[in-house]
Amino acid sequence: MIIGLYPGSFDPVTLGHLDIISRSSKIVDRLIVGVLLNSSKTALFSMPERVKMIKELTVSYENVSVRSFDGLTVDYAHECGASVIMRGLRAVTDFEYELQLAQTNKVMAPDIETVFLTTNLKYSYLSSSTVKEIASFGGDVHAFVPALVEERLKEKFASRSAR
Ligand code: ADP
Repeated sequence: MIIGLYPGSFDPVTLGHLDIISRSSKIVDRLIVGVLLNSSKTALFSMPERVKMIKELTVSYENVSVRSFDGLTVDYAHECGASVIMRGLRAVTDFEYELQLAQTNKVMAPDIETVFLTTNLKYSYLSSSTVKEIASFGGDVHAFVPALVEERLKEKFASRSAR
């Protein structure tokens, strides 16, 4: 059985991420979406909020589970028995960083392979940061995230401006 780990910040999850989740779930037997507690990034959504959103959005995928983790991705992959790390590649700009990450991981954990899925062209420009920026100015993000995430973004920025 091949277990895949799809790690990321998912702050918040976008249609681009969900496309990678859906396609990865058809490649591996079990897919774990690993939400990373990244100390170098200040997140808009808390860890429980991020995990809950992805769980709600992937409920129909029987072989997908969502968990949080911190520390090294390869350590977490070993912990959950994953032999494959899934990553999405959007543009050339992603390539250098992703290649460096994959090669470093390969040295640290030779038994784990990184598999890249090229982004769906529809979502190649899409990032969580852009979505947050648009939402922070009250812009319409319905083309970028599912309705549930759009709603949570509205709530988040409404509660922030009420402070
Ligand atoms: P990280 O903080 O690790 O970059 P992200 O949540 O930004 O986490 O992204 C997680 C993974 O999803 C990365 O491999 C990233 O390249 C990929 N990804 C992000 N946005 C998209 C998108 N629009 N289409 C395809 N893959 C994407």
